[in-house]
Order: sequence, then structure tokens, then C-alpha cells
Amino acid sequence: MARLTLADGRALDYQVRQSARAKYMRMQLHPTHGLLVTQPPGVSARALHQWVLSQQPWITAALQKLAQHPPPAAAVSTLPERLALLATGENLHVIYTPSARKSITLHYLEHATLTLTGAVSDPAHCQQALRQWLRSYAQVHLSKQLRQVAAETGLHYVNCRIKGQQTRWGSCSARGNINLNEKLMLLPPEWVRYVLIHELCHTVEMNHSKRFWALVAGFVPEYKAIHAQMKGAMGQLPGWVR
Ligand SMILES: [Zn+2]
Repeated sequence: MARLTLADGRALDYQVRQSARAKYMRMQLHPTHGLLVTQPPGVSARALHQWVLSQQPWITAALQKLAQHPPPAAAVSTLPERLALLATGENLHVIYTPSARKSITLHYLEHATLTLTGAVSDPAHCQQALRQWLRSYAQVHLSKQLRQVAAETGLHYVNCRIKGQQTRWGSCSARGNINLNEKLMLLPPEWVRYVLIHELCHTVEMNHSKRFWALVAGFVPEYKAIHAQMKGAMGQLPGWVR
């Protein structure tokens, strides 16, 4: 923890976070954690403090903005600092970097970070940006996986869409179109595989008959255990994704 004195005489503490990956010094004013400053390798504590001092106009403006629009407490706590995408085995560090822009740009660095830059003081806006990103990433990952599982099982489908359903992980229409939930990205790979196979089996059996479950069991012998484990999983997901 370090301290700086603002032009109006107020003292402000800030937290320094050393990051081996960071290329530049950066700061964010977090609604609950205060001012966070990132120290990249090769930058001395003294140089970092000088830089923080030089950023006073930005800090003062950001403090003012925060005071005018205090974020709702519940919404703030639901913004993730980590995003565990069990489906792909990624545990992304989520970084919020404020800037003067009104929109939010999202930068994804594979297996490492998700950086939101722009109007990040608005939690609802951040959640929306995260959801949008999750959907586009799910579109890439889940449709690819569905293609693979279809090839492997010899089951055919027509089209695959990614949606944000509130109560179901997937669905299959009589025409063989499969809808998958973007939230599957947060589930373990074996659960995701089960959901894909479940929906693919519906292209053959449009019901939950004995024949349907026998077909599922042929591909996922342990499907009963997975089905039971998945009960209530939707309600246990982090708030921002629900
Ligand atoms: Zn079903």
C-alpha cells in the first residue's frame, strides 16, 4: 500500500500489484478496492510513484465520477476478477481498465487475461460486455465441439446456435437444429460432452423414452451420474452470467 496526496490535500492510498506479464504501468479505480496500480517488471517503485503522481487529473476525475454514480453494491460484487472456463480449461484473469470512452472494448489473451477497457465503472455495462464475449467464444468453441462429437458418434444435426437460455442447457428442434447455452462454457468438459450428446440423440429420438436413454447410454455410460450432478448447476453459476 502506498499513499499520494491529491492537489486538494486529500490523501489517497493505492495498492501496487506486481505483474510479470504487464508491459505498461496502468491503474484502475475499483469501486470496492480503491486505486489499483500495476507495476510491470523493470519499473522501480520510485518511477511508479512518479507516474501515479502524474496521473492526478485522471484520478481526480475518476473519483468524482465514482462519487456521482456510486455503483449498486450487489452489482459490483458480481463482477468477476477471475473467469473459470472449465469447458476449455482456462482460468482467465479479468482486468478492468477505465478510460474516457463511453463504450467497453474487450481484449482476450488466450489462457491468460480478459481486459475490459473503457466505461468499466458501470457494472451493468461490464456484465453485458462479458456476456457478449462469452457468447462469441461459446459460438467458436461449442460449435466446433458439436461438429467433433457428431462426427465421432455418427449423429447428424442441421444447425447450431448459441443462446443465453435461463433454464436449459440445450435444445433440439424437430428439424435437427441444436441450440446450446453459452453458460456451458463454465461447466466441466465431461458435462458439456454429455449435453451435446443428449441433444444429438434427440435428432434420432425426439423424446425422453427408454430408447432415447439407451442411445445416450451407448455414448455416455455414466450419463445418470452426470445428469444428477448437473441438477441445480444453473443456479450455482456466478451472478454476472445468470
Ligand atoms: Zn432432452
